[in-house]
Amino acid sequence: MKQQIRETTLEMIQGDITKAEVDVIVNAANSELIGGGGVDGAIRRAGGDEIEQACAEIRRREGGCPTGEAVITPGGNLHANYVIHTVGPVWQGGSSGEAELLASCYKESLRLAVDNNIQSIAFPSISTGIYGYPTEKAAVVALTAVKEFVIQDTIAPIVIQFVLFDEATHTCYLDALLTVF
Ligand code: ADP
Repeated sequence: MKQQIRETTLEMIQGDITKAEVDVIVNAANSELIGGGGVDGAIRRAGGDEIEQACAEIRRREGGCPTGEAVITPGGNLHANYVIHTVGPVWQGGSSGEAELLASCYKESLRLAVDNNIQSIAFPSISTGIYGYPTEKAAVVALTAVKEFVIQDTIAPIVIQFVLFDEATHTCYLDALLTVF
């Protein structure tokens, strides 16, 4: 399903984000930038050593990446030229600033993409796996953040994809699209 926001096309796709044919794919990383499971493991396996080394360098230089922020590395063996690693909040019941931190992940990733002149970007469903954020809630936060960024900013990527791994997550994002737009 597609949704136009100004010059930007927002696309909802069910599939494997490591195969996305975009300039940058976003990784749901941890704050240590050390390889984990889920989408992080899949991206690192597909991208290989170059991603690993770039993450190690950021770790040495900056100590990692705080929750709600984002860093960029090369894409290694991926089709994408870059990976943006952003750290989602762990769900703690919803009153610990989770929604603000999750929105910040999407906006900071888009900001980094624009700063690097990136035209197309693919997001997974950040925080809704191991970090336990309820998917229906996360989908509304995610799409609201993207909508606000595109409406408020003078420059935004031309293509913004959400690549959702499983059918249940894909369905949640399609429902959220109807709510948010
Ligand atoms: P988090 O720790 O932020 O919760 P996870 O990687 O555990 O991150 O899960 C985030 C989402 O990514 C989940 O919906 C999971 O199903 C999904 N996911 C896992 N592998 C892939 C993949 N290859 N492509 C796209 N999404 C994936």
